[in-house]
Amino acid sequence: MEEKELTCIGCPMGCTLQVKLAEGAVTEVTGNICSRGSAYAKKEVSNPTRTVTSTVRVEGGCFPVAPVRTKADIPKGKIFEVMDALKKVRLPAPVSAGDVALQNAAGTGVDVVVTKEVRRSQAVEKPA
Ligand code: SF4
Repeated sequence: MEEKELTCIGCPMGCTLQVKLAEGAVTEVTGNICSRGSAYAKKEVSNPTRTVTSTVRVEGGCFPVAPVRTKADIPKGKIFEVMDALKKVRLPAPVSAGDVALQNAAGTGVDVVVTKEVRRSQAVEKPA
């Protein structure tokens, strides 16, 4: 019998979960206030996943970067690969919320999408 302690990330309460395992399978979860804690512990032990949020470069935009996030959770072990791929992305302005910034991020089958619009920059003309 193995035991693990996890912190639930389901809400700001951050409950400390005690997880009992037998042959890699969760047999008991305690410390959770609600059922989401139990579900989180089971998933975290067997297949940990995360949503990734970051930014990508925007060329010719009124801001130099646009915020992005994965459309769904990805395996935790793929996070750094996705972040490396995002560093290479350059989107031409304008970009809109929902635009795909990176397809099939790191082979996860999950796209990374823009979450906030970035308009084209307005060139300021100097008076003659
Ligand atoms: S177990 Fe429930 S109440 Fe506790 S942190 Fe997780 S989601 Fe929040």
